[in-house]
Amino acid sequence: MSFSTLGLSKPILRAIDEQGYTTPTPIQKQAIPIVLAKKDVLAGAQTGTGKTAGFTLPLLQLLSDAPQHKGKRQVKALILTPTRELAAQVADSVYTYGKYLPFKSTVIFGGVGSNPQIQTLKRGVDIVIATPGRLLDLANQGYIDLSTVDFFVLDEADRMLDMGFIHDIKKVLALLPKKRQNLLFSATFSNEIKTLADRLLNKPELIEVARRNTSAESVTQRIYPVDRERKRELLSHLIGDNNWKQVLVFTRTKHGANRLSEQLGKDGIAAAAIHGNKSQSARTKALADFKQNKVRVLVATDIAARGIDIDQLPHVVNYELPNVPEDYVHRIGRTGRAGNEGEAISLVCVDEIKLLRDIEKLIKKEIKKVREPGFDVNPDIKAEPIQQRSAGRGGNRGRPGGSGASRPKSTTSATRQDSGRHQGGGRPATKQRSRDSHRGNR
Ligand code: AMP
Repeated sequence: MSFSTLGLSKPILRAIDEQGYTTPTPIQKQAIPIVLAKKDVLAGAQTGTGKTAGFTLPLLQLLSDAPQHKGKRQVKALILTPTRELAAQVADSVYTYGKYLPFKSTVIFGGVGSNPQIQTLKRGVDIVIATPGRLLDLANQGYIDLSTVDFFVLDEADRMLDMGFIHDIKKVLALLPKKRQNLLFSATFSNEIKTLADRLLNKPELIEVARRNTSAESVTQRIYPVDRERKRELLSHLIGDNNWKQVLVFTRTKHGANRLSEQLGKDGIAAAAIHGNKSQSARTKALADFKQNKVRVLVATDIAARGIDIDQLPHVVNYELPNVPEDYVHRIGRTGRAGNEGEAISLVCVDEIKLLRDIEKLIKKEIKKVREPGFDVNPDIKAEPIQQRSAGRGGNRGRPGGSGASRPKSTTSATRQDSGRHQGGGRPATKQRSRDSHRGNR
C-alpha cells in the first residue's frame, strides 16, 4: 500500500515523498481514512509507530479541503502535548508535511518570555501545537482565541495525566467550541484515560496498533540479573564488549543520571545526562551530541526522555526499573521505531524483583533472563526497599564519588516555548517551570 491511495493531496504526498516514506505505517493506514471521514478517534499507539504523521497528514488535508477564511487567520487546529520536546517535534512534523501548503503553524510552551509568541499569534496562525500551561496563560490574557478550533488532538494523553495536567486539559476543553473533531492518542489505557476519552470524544473509532499495554514487537527485551552494587560495572562491560554506539540509559533519579554519566566517563565511555534540573540549552546540547554520535551514552530520567525521537536508536538500557510499569513500555518504545529492530535490556537487582513482576504482568509476557559471565548474582544479598528519593542507589553506594550527594533542588520544568519558529523565529533557550514538580526527584 502506498500513501497515494489514502486520499491525500499532491502537496502533502510530495512532502511525504521527500521524507523518504514509501509505505504508511499501520497506525497511518488506519487513522488517515478515519480522520479524513471527520470521525473522532481513540488511538492506542505508542511513540515510534508513526502516530504523529497519522494525525498530522489528515489534519493538513482537512484544512486544505475547508473553505479558506478571509481576513486574519484563525486557529483551526490545536494539538496539545505533555512536554515541550514533544511539542517541538510535532511542530516540526506539521511544518515538514505542510511545507507545500499555505498554512501557518506555531508552537507554544512556557519557560521563556511570551512576547514573541504573542506577536506570532497577533499575526494569525492556523495550527497551534502547545503544552497546556502557557496556552492557558495566553488564552486567559486574550491573546489566543480557541473558539474557532475545528480539530483537536490530545497527544500522549496518558503522559498528560501522569504529569498532572488533567485540570489544565479540562480548562482548555472549556475554551473549545462544542462542535469539533477530536483525536486522543495514548500508549496505555488506564481507567482515567477511559474517563477522559468518554468526556472528550464523540462516538470514537478505536484504533490500536500495538496491543494494549504491550511492548513493541520489534524490540528484543532482555533482563540481566545483577547485584545492585555492580550495575555500573556491568553496564560499562556490556557497552564495551558489544561495542554499542548509541545507548539511551534510564535511571530513576536526576542525581542518579548525573552520577552514572560521570562514572561512565571515568570508564572511558563518553556520556551525557539529561533531566529536569538541566537547563534547556544543556538538554538540547546533550541530545544533539548524542544524535551526532559525539557521546555514546545518554543517561535520562523518564520525564526528560519523553518525546525524544531518535531514528534508529538501537539500544535502550533500564539501569533501574521504573516504579510505574507503564513507564517501561514508554522507555523501550524509544527503540525499535517505525519498523527498525531495537534492543532493550534491563539491569535488575534483587530489590527490583517485584517491579519486574509488575512489568511482566502488564506486557503479558516473561522477559528473557540472561546471565553475563563474571556477574553472577550473590544469593546472600537481601532485597532492600527502593528509596524513591535517594540519589540513585543502583550501583555505587560506597564507591568513590557515589556518596554524600545532596538532594537536588526540586524539579522545575517541563514546558518550553518556541514561538513563531515556523515564521522564521529561532528556538529560544529556556528556563524551567514547575509543571512536574509533583514527580519529585525523577
Ligand atoms: P512517531 O511515532 O510519530 O514519533 O514517529 C516515529 C518515527 O517514524 C519518526 O522518526 C518518523 O519520521 C518516522 N515515520 C513516520 N511515518 C513513517 C513512514 N510511513 N515510513 C517511515 N518512517 C516513518
